Amino acid sequence: RDADVFARLPDGGQISFGALFAGAERMAAALVDCGVQPGDRVAVQVAKTIEAIQLYLGTVMAGAIFLPLNTAYTTSEVGYFLGDATPRVVVCDPDRASDIAGIAGKARLLTLDAAGRGSLRDLADRQGGFDPVTRAPGDLAAILYTSGTTGRSKGAMLSHANLASNSETLREYWRFTADDVLIHALPIFHTHGLFVATNVALLAGAQVVFLPGFDADAILEAMPLATAMMGVPTFYTRLLAEKRLTRDRAANMRLFISGSAPLLVDTHEQWEARTGHRILERYGMTETNMSTSNPYDGERRAGTVGFPLPGVEARVMAEGREVAQGEIGVLEVRGPNVFQGYWQMPEKTAEELKPDGWFITGDLARIDEDGYVIIVGREKDLIITGGFNVYPKEIESLIDDLPDVRESAVIGVPHPDFGEGVVAVVVPENPKLEPETITAALAGQLARFKQPKQVLLVDELPRNTMGKVQKKALREAYKDLFA
Ligand code: ATP
Ligand code: MG
Repeated sequence: RDADVFARLPDGGQISFGALFAGAERMAAALVDCGVQPGDRVAVQVAKTIEAIQLYLGTVMAGAIFLPLNTAYTTSEVGYFLGDATPRVVVCDPDRASDIAGIAGKARLLTLDAAGRGSLRDLADRQGGFDPVTRAPGDLAAILYTSGTTGRSKGAMLSHANLASNSETLREYWRFTADDVLIHALPIFHTHGLFVATNVALLAGAQVVFLPGFDADAILEAMPLATAMMGVPTFYTRLLAEKRLTRDRAANMRLFISGSAPLLVDTHEQWEARTGHRILERYGMTETNMSTSNPYDGERRAGTVGFPLPGVEARVMAEGREVAQGEIGVLEVRGPNVFQGYWQMPEKTAEELKPDGWFITGDLARIDEDGYVIIVGREKDLIITGGFNVYPKEIESLIDDLPDVRESAVIGVPHPDFGEGVVAVVVPENPKLEPETITAALAGQLARFKQPKQVLLVDELPRNTMGKVQKKALREAYKDLFA
């Protein structure tokens, strides 16, 4: 690879590290021109472009706080975030500028489109160089809103030290170097694409194949000359549907990483059979960046998220104490990766971030006999039926293993007798699958109280852009099932 090139672009163009940072300096100068001062928020809802990456880098160079927003958010959703974060500058797509203008408050509104053009770019193009503003390790670099899977999104405050330490750890753990070519098809408004993929590549001096979004053709085309890919589980299932995904095509690759949502064991196995590579699954969240990872050299154990990363501690808690080995409880993590608290939510911060540094993730987990962490689901998705705890994952795993099943989601919905009733929502692989077949197959395998009271067949599960199943939406859709 050409050592000067940071990114290869879909139109065949490329951008050097020098040009990337020169553009970032001009962005920083443009922001300062708009009155941005250290500590100010710069809220950004734009398409994935190199200019958007330069805006991220420029914001941080200006000493300000980068606040990216999901491009799928509607104007009223964006309104909530802007009201919460009171940014100095808001950058949006020109098509949405008139809508956003109505909710931007006192912020200066600038535009950037999917081709990297707009009023921000015009302003930046008139600037010269910029000397980065000095910041302390504990100063904020970004506020990232959580995905809103379990409730209203919360703004996670991330310091320079949070981001720097995690990128450095991951670069080393996953062995990224200047020889790498990373397929970058993730959105850059989320931790995964912005911090894990972009920061690690920049820190390693690696090259990225910069794709505006998931595109099976473009990924398969890039693969023979690439060395690594980071993706959400849906990337892997969609690529497996392509006949062109072969061992040959993946021969130059050294690493496939998955995260943001659980990777099915089945996907892990199919991927290995097809490409010869074992996917490396890791676990993290907006509040902590990455906390655990399967090993680079050792066994990458399917269905687990591996070990706590170097410098990160993890423990499983129930009723105020650590559980016995192998038991399920709430996962807590501590380390330099853990955020500074939720923006404007001191009570919520106090509830979840303990004074001694332990952060209560809200994920249920257990640690197997070899120390691998297994995410069992979210505490909020735990079903309590007739006074008994039911972990959806246990039932989902059994259903997913049945013939003719593609995947499933098990939820609890209000039930007049039991409090909550267990419901299985199943996507068939074979259209002939009958709900009764599933009910019958589970009968011999699960205690009565865990058996779904209803099995519903659907074409697909509701997912967000990061491939996360939206159980909240499922619970809402079926809330009257037992009414
Ligand atoms: P919200 O906090 O607003 O409800 P969210 O938790 O989905 O949304 P993110 O911070 O984007 O927002 O996601 C973090 C969560 O994603 C983790 O807490 C965990 O539940 C899930 N997750 C991430 N990686 C994995 C993984 N490898 N396996 C299982 N779950 C994962
Ligand atoms: Mg969360």
